Amino acid sequence: MEEKACDMLIVGGGPAGYTAALYGARAGLSVLVIEKLAPGGQMGTTDMVDNYPGFPEGINGFDLAMKMKAGAERFGAQTVSAEVTALELAGPLKIAHTAKTAYPARTVVLAMGAHPRELGLPNERALRGKGVSYCATCDGMFYRGKSVAVIGGGETAVADALYLARLCERVTLIHRRDKLRAPVSQQKALEHTGKVGFLWDSQAVEFLADTRLTGLRVRNKKSGEEQALSCAGVFLAVGQVPDTDLLKGQVDLDGSGYVLAGEDTRTSLPGVFAAGDLRKKPLRQIVTAAADGAAAAQAAGEFLEE
Ligand code: NAP
Repeated sequence: MEEKACDMLIVGGGPAGYTAALYGARAGLSVLVIEKLAPGGQMGTTDMVDNYPGFPEGINGFDLAMKMKAGAERFGAQTVSAEVTALELAGPLKIAHTAKTAYPARTVVLAMGAHPRELGLPNERALRGKGVSYCATCDGMFYRGKSVAVIGGGETAVADALYLARLCERVTLIHRRDKLRAPVSQQKALEHTGKVGFLWDSQAVEFLADTRLTGLRVRNKKSGEEQALSCAGVFLAVGQVPDTDLLKGQVDLDGSGYVLAGEDTRTSLPGVFAAGDLRKKPLRQIVTAAADGAAAAQAAGEFLEE
């Protein structure tokens, strides 16, 4: 089945996608967002967002996502719940394919974001859902009153450790260097909980398990010493991988798979724009994803006028 062509088709309903939808719809464009899961992308699974301006008490990530979606819909943007399985981006009319439908569009905003990176240990995939998790807010409640570990030193690791400290008996944060990538104030917040311990310069080298995870073997990178850490769950927060597989061979990407596009979000293909975490850029935050969405809608509008 093929739909009528819209002015701007947005792939991905995170902060970049729904901001593009808001700006596009307010500018009078016909806008369609295709989102495979719930709105919000990674933001949607964030317990508390403290650094998006306008919410002095912080806001739950899913609640913020619903507000962003409602804001775009107020001006006529529409959402389809489906997974885009293929994109044809080269011609003047672009087409997004889902299992059942082809959606043609005059411009496309790529806003598929990124997903958590795997650590790459042998039994990691087998233990997924059996003690190995990539989302503290999704799975943390299963570890209430238990000991858990968080691996990573960025903002995700800190947010996960803070969230888990509220539920779990003990949280061990394992980081491969001797300082966090996240701001110093966040380390203080972790220490303040009284529940979080740190293993610096350390790397998990083995997931210990019977039918499910029972602990980790951790190696200190400086001394080479190893220890077994007993824990019921481990939360991996070791960075992101951009969701750009559908774009390979069509749009210019860097060596890590991020879309090469400047601040104006224009990609190597006319009429195709990249917004949010999948774009190569120095700072990936909700606010920078939203900024990209606004820039993409502006650029798409200009492209349609050209
Ligand atoms: P990130 O900033 O890339 O941090 C990844 C962390 O994992 C780093 O500490 C890195 O160590 C470590 N790491 C990477 N590969 C590893 C490996 N193989 N083994 C062990 N450790 C490894 O990723 P993120 O924390 O997911 O954040 C991604 C982006 O989202 C960032 O721009 C962040 O600012 C943003 N973010 C924002 C919010 C918010 O707005 N509230 C919340 C979460 C994330 P090194 O430090 O040694 O490189």
